[in-house]
Amino acid sequence: MIVVLFGPPGSGKGTQAQFIVEHFGIPQISTGDMLRAAVKAGTPLGVIAKSTMDAGGLVSDEVVLGLVAERVVADDCAKGFVLDGFPRTIHQADSLISFLKESGKSINFVVSLDVDRQDIINRLSGRRTCPACGKGYHIFFNKPVCESVCDACGTTLIQRADDTEETVINRIDVYDEQTSALKKYFKELGVLFCISGSGQISDIQAQIASILTSGGIGDHS
Ligand code: ADP
Ligand code: ADP
Ligand code: ZN
Repeated sequence: MIVVLFGPPGSGKGTQAQFIVEHFGIPQISTGDMLRAAVKAGTPLGVIAKSTMDAGGLVSDEVVLGLVAERVVADDCAKGFVLDGFPRTIHQADSLISFLKESGKSINFVVSLDVDRQDIINRLSGRRTCPACGKGYHIFFNKPVCESVCDACGTTLIQRADDTEETVINRIDVYDEQTSALKKYFKELGVLFCISGSGQISDIQAQIASILTSGGIGDHS
């Protein structure tokens, strides 16, 4: 099963991807996490990507496609995977579809999480992330058991460098200009399921589980 979680920054893709990993036993492929790991490790690719990420722009298709192409052929992806934050351009989507086709695979579900602009800003300004395992939290909406400490691995949580208000506004504009058109693309492909990303995390999880198991209760637009 190949699932794409689609939506603007802060719509809950990472949060819901973690649920899919636990519930369906397929790995999460987050291009944002992979790029942050490269930046942290100081690899040549990380050095190239850093300034673009800090400004909230998109890293080049070539770099991102290279990372994904290498990741999806790993053994743990044989039964499927959930993509979070990829594809973000039409070119990335076209390339994904063609390299999946080479091994007889295709995207099964695109779940679009729709959230309005003010909610995005509130969410990203309160987002906290575990720098060790990548798990996401929110200071009001999704608190860890112990303040500022990751439930999963005990590491102290951080605020991402690109979750400042200025960069967030830029990322929303970049989404509107370069990524939002993919919704129509996925609709035409016949794999798009749209749900509201604004409810309780557990309600959204239930809707996603229903879509992925029974073909969906959502707005299959
Ligand atoms: P994305 O991966 O799409 O950027 P995240 O999953 O990191 O989004 O979520 C952004 C922030 O919003 C995080 O702090 C997360 O804990 C919080 N969040 C996620 N889903 C919800 C929700 N349904 N209601 C309120 N807050 C949420
Ligand atoms: P968000 O919480 O905004 O969804 P991500 O963690 O997915 O953020 O991505 C963080 C940054 O990494 C993006 O602002 C962008 O610079 C870069 N990035 C992640 N995925 C991609 C992609 N598919 N194409 C281009 N750049 C990407
Ligand atoms: Zn952790």
